Amino acid sequence: MKGFKKSKRGGLFKGVSLILAIGVNCFTKFIGMRLHSFNITNFKIDGGAMFGVVPKILWEKHYPADENNFCNWSLRSLVIDTGDRVVLIDNGFGNKQSEKFFSRFHLNNYKGLEEGLAEGGYKPEDVTDMVLTHLHTDHCGGGVKTSKDGNGYEMTFPNARYIVSKDQWEWAVNPNMREKDTYLPENLHPMEESGQLHLIEEEREICPGVSLRLFNGHTRGQIIPFISYNGRTIVFAADLLPSTVHIPLPYIMSYDVMPLETLKEKELFLKEALDNGYVLFFQHDYYNECCNLQDTHKGIRAKDTFLLQQWLREI
Ligand SMILES: [Zn+2]
Repeated sequence: MKGFKKSKRGGLFKGVSLILAIGVNCFTKFIGMRLHSFNITNFKIDGGAMFGVVPKILWEKHYPADENNFCNWSLRSLVIDTGDRVVLIDNGFGNKQSEKFFSRFHLNNYKGLEEGLAEGGYKPEDVTDMVLTHLHTDHCGGGVKTSKDGNGYEMTFPNARYIVSKDQWEWAVNPNMREKDTYLPENLHPMEESGQLHLIEEEREICPGVSLRLFNGHTRGQIIPFISYNGRTIVFAADLLPSTVHIPLPYIMSYDVMPLETLKEKELFLKEALDNGYVLFFQHDYYNECCNLQDTHKGIRAKDTFLLQQWLREI
């Protein structure tokens, strides 16, 4: 993703930071919310695995593959700064594993987690809430790093609570054979041992403007964050909808543990998103960061695609 310049905290958002008026019990409270997105790295995954039962002849028209059938994917994170809290959503692969491990993912255009945060003017110590949509290795590995002496692990965000759904945590620490390879003990156990792990059992608002909802088709208890910004809703689509190309209902990843559940969840979510004018933020779409939706004779589809910062400047 292009379009960000290095800037001191606040500089990037000059002119786009908005004061939101929220009525609370007849009193008006003002909250300034800043959003900063960044792409930690791109990585390549087999196109067939990403598009499930859809034949290549169809998906390839919308999402190109190379000669090895690999497609390129982004790994975006999002910072939501409410003034009181600095919420980070997902933190990529991290860099604890071996070269051999990373060679499976063909990382390219690597920026890094801390570098991406720094572009928005943030340090790891600033993060108060580390929301992990789920615990697959590309979503949570950056939260734990190798300790300075090289003998153990330490938390990347020492002042943050690490928010995970209870369902996902239990699913990850007792993994099924299908997902076992992506739930890495070194990503999980230090979180618990640090005392920073914070499990949520149901959908809830974690701070003004940031609500977490739960979905089960991709994996049990995936958190999908809904962000209220100036009266509009931005949805961090994570692996519910990895890209614009996954919007048509049959386009479901082979990775999903309950594809029929994904189908139902997508159908309901897309209708809600269309009816309420939500903006979808894509973590994995190499070509598009955000879109809004339209109803067509074929079903709900992407309408306009844009960068988050572009949208923030225009509303
Ligand atoms: Zn996943």
